[in-house]
Formats: sequence, C-alpha cells, structure tokens
Amino acid sequence: MFMNYEVDVEKFNLFLDEKKLPNTCPLCATDALEMDIDVVFGLAELPIIPGESIAIPLLPTTCKNCGYTAFINPMVKGLLKSSDGGEQNG
Ligand SMILES: [Zn+2]
Repeated sequence: MFMNYEVDVEKFNLFLDEKKLPNTCPLCATDALEMDIDVVFGLAELPIIPGESIAIPLLPTTCKNCGYTAFINPMVKGLLKSSDGGEQNG
C-alpha cells in the first residue's frame, strides 16, 4: 500500500518543467487546471484483499472552473518518496 509515501516535491517540479504540462482544461478551455500533490490517491483492484490487492497511486489534476479531473501515476517517473526520505520507483 502507499500510505507511507508522499510526493518528492523537488522531482515533481523538475517533472513539470521537463514535460511543460499545459494548464488548459480540455473540457472548458480555461487555464484553470491545477495539480494537487498534497494527497496521493489510490486506484485499487477489487475486491480489496489486504496484502494481495494491487493499488496504483494517482495525483489528481482538477479544473478549478468546471471540475474536470485527470490523473497522473507518479510511480512512472519516480515522483514518490517514502515518508522516511527513501525513493519509490515503479
Ligand atoms: Zn474546465
């Protein structure tokens, strides 16, 4: 599970600079997309069986104008670190 992981802010900012992610919403076309890195969500395999189910960590990008939401898996670029400072790669 990913309860002890948080976004590595330094790597995340490098990722944003490298990818030059647009902040234009594909639904309403306003420049109101914002990524929230304070909380890592999980997309879990069902049924949830402790110790067996797989969960994918996700960072939400939400349009503050219309609510459109997309997700980025931070494991792909190693953007998570454990709360004790270690790195978590996918
Ligand atoms: Zn929108």
